[in-house]
Amino acid sequence: MESISVFDMLKIGVGPSSSHTLGPWRAALRWIGELKEKNQFEDVAEISVDLYGSLSLTGKGHATDLALMLGLTGFDPVTFPIENIEKEIAFINSENKLKLNGELEVPFFPKENIIFNRKFLEFHPNGMTFKATLKNGSKKSSSFYSIGGGFTVKKERIRKKIKLAKFAQFPFPIEKGTELLAYCKAEGKSISEIVFENEKFLRSEAEINDGLQKIWNVMLDSMYVGAHTEGTLPGGLNVTRRAFAMNKNLIGDHKYTNAEEWIGAIRNTEVKFRQILKWVSCFALAVNEVNASLGRVVTAPTNGSAGVMPAVMMYYMVIENHDANFDDVRKFLLTGGEIGSIFKKGSTISAAMGGCQAEIGVSSSMAAGALCELMGGTPEQCLMASEIAMEHHLGMTCDPIAGLVQIPCIERNAMGAIKAINACEMALDSDPSKAKVPLDKVIATMWETAKDMTSKYKETSEGGLAVQVNISDC
Ligand code: SF4
Repeated sequence: MESISVFDMLKIGVGPSSSHTLGPWRAALRWIGELKEKNQFEDVAEISVDLYGSLSLTGKGHATDLALMLGLTGFDPVTFPIENIEKEIAFINSENKLKLNGELEVPFFPKENIIFNRKFLEFHPNGMTFKATLKNGSKKSSSFYSIGGGFTVKKERIRKKIKLAKFAQFPFPIEKGTELLAYCKAEGKSISEIVFENEKFLRSEAEINDGLQKIWNVMLDSMYVGAHTEGTLPGGLNVTRRAFAMNKNLIGDHKYTNAEEWIGAIRNTEVKFRQILKWVSCFALAVNEVNASLGRVVTAPTNGSAGVMPAVMMYYMVIENHDANFDDVRKFLLTGGEIGSIFKKGSTISAAMGGCQAEIGVSSSMAAGALCELMGGTPEQCLMASEIAMEHHLGMTCDPIAGLVQIPCIERNAMGAIKAINACEMALDSDPSKAKVPLDKVIATMWETAKDMTSKYKETSEGGLAVQVNISDC
């Protein structure tokens, strides 16, 4: 089994899709690295990219072409100022040239040099091949696969060996929920404490805390920006942003000038059940409206499901515990990240492989278990909460209208967050030793369901809502 860090699961990136935007962006950067390693970079005369399968079928709606161009230009998805996206893309479109890695000018005609092929490559539904013609006329190519959550791999899995070696050296190598629970029991530690020990094998305590703080900053910022941005989302569906009006109605006359003060202001509002539902929905919608408009979000485990974890953490901060601080955020992210990685190891977090159960279902499961730890649940109750959350997402298909990560995606984050809170509460009131379905069984079930699902429902926009609802109806 290969090592997966919490920082692999929770990645800062740009919307709207981790597999179709962030993955191709990172693959383009990896390809540049390969060219440099082989001393071919300086000799590149022309480039093109072939997209295959799901990556091609919903690539336009998921801004795959833009992501590729930004990656080929050498920009970092974590730090690139998103307000410059339009300008950079307009330059390539109008000049028909691209500065490879910001260093080498090559001709580039986006409509001709990014080729959308309908056929699927055998290895994975999200395939792409980068091609270069060198100055001496020789041709080079390299294929990558975007396997969900912004992860990219080569068929030959060249980094696999390193990851396998790292996993073997973890103090607590974890592949399944049962192993995680056994470590918690043997060490008398919570899930987040066990995960922290593993992370310490990869980086220093200061780096872990700093990284988690950065992740939370982006999560909070995406909620704040989304809740304070009015208008319609790009893409042609004319979807109205709803988080703005919800926040306005809920916050009333409470004043604030930044995200931290916003948290304080929300804590001062009166909340009953309806308001709690609306606040949680507002947080989740806000993140995914930012995601749909090519904004900066954290994959958790993917971009399409990026709103669930922040919404549930925010719920804890503003509703459950007004004294919550960064230590709670740390525990939440460590626990949630580990649960996500157990899903990745036992099943998939790619909608192209498993439909929406792999995105919203996993995010809800991550958030449920993480919230349960903050609420004082035992490790067994945390995994029970995760299991409940996934159990009621099993079979959920991926059928985004017009290939955009908007309908049903944005609302699904609100539903996933609410389910996570409910799953947590049920687990807190239950005796996990009497549970009939352990987490590992639901993960295995999810994987079997994924294999049985037809490709129509796996991020191809060839079935479900994507064909029932016409773009002209929207
Ligand atoms: S339907 Fe679900 S899995 Fe598909 S793009 Fe939307 S959020 Fe992602």
